[in-house]
Amino acid sequence: MASMATDASRTGFRGSAEPPSWTVTSVLGVQVAVSSNVFAAALELKQRGGGQIVTLNAEMTMAARANPELGAAIAQADLVIPDGAGVVWALGRQGFRVRRSPGIELARQLLVYAAAHRWRVALVGASPAVMERLVERLQAEIPALDLAFTIHGYQDPEQWPGIEQQLLEAHPDLVLVALGVPRQETWIQRLHPGQPGLWMGVGGSFDVWSGTKQRAPEWMGRLQIEWLYRLIQEPSRWRRMLALPAFAWEVLRRG
Ligand code: UDP
Repeated sequence: MASMATDASRTGFRGSAEPPSWTVTSVLGVQVAVSSNVFAAALELKQRGGGQIVTLNAEMTMAARANPELGAAIAQADLVIPDGAGVVWALGRQGFRVRRSPGIELARQLLVYAAAHRWRVALVGASPAVMERLVERLQAEIPALDLAFTIHGYQDPEQWPGIEQQLLEAHPDLVLVALGVPRQETWIQRLHPGQPGLWMGVGGSFDVWSGTKQRAPEWMGRLQIEWLYRLIQEPSRWRRMLALPAFAWEVLRRG
């Protein structure tokens, strides 16, 4: 088993001397948390004063190595969960047996929890049509949800400072951001300090929840080939997906 190091000082949790209940290790130099229950870890983070949650997959790990801004956002994030099968596999090679924790599932659990606990929720990102459908669907599926702030992600650049101001003034307890990688991570990193909420990049989750895109069927998830489904749905992603064999090669090369 690789050596573990809890890393409470890095996260600088406000008002808590206790280290967090999860362990931080790294995959190809990018931090990732080892936790038996990422939902409990997220709630713990909220109790500790909030922070940024990153959902890490192989593609993002490689992007972080090439993009210092994204690398810094992940390094400073408060909780990085293993979202992709590649990251889980790499952790397994280090002796950490963790379950894959898809960000879309954690985000949904947080929405349900938010409704039950009267949290104020903000949704940022996706196309105008997707956001409209998403709000309708969420209101129907989780009626108690307090959607304090919703905004689509294709705004004119000059609109953003005002939007950011309004978002911060809404003091949300949970902010889900679908602006794509790396923008959603760097955007959150810039905005969340001093805010009490949980802030999480959710990639294509709004497209799925709105019914605009499909998630891979469960059997593909079990075979760990969700990436193939995504590639078939969005063939234009093929170039980005070359990061997957590069990731595997790099993990194997490092032994
Ligand atoms: N998106 C957005 N504004 C942008 C670019 C992307 O709101 O300028 C949204 C996009 O509509 C989608 C989400 O970000 O809902 C994630 O995009 P994508 O799947 O390309 O990102 P990934 O997380 O896979 O990199």
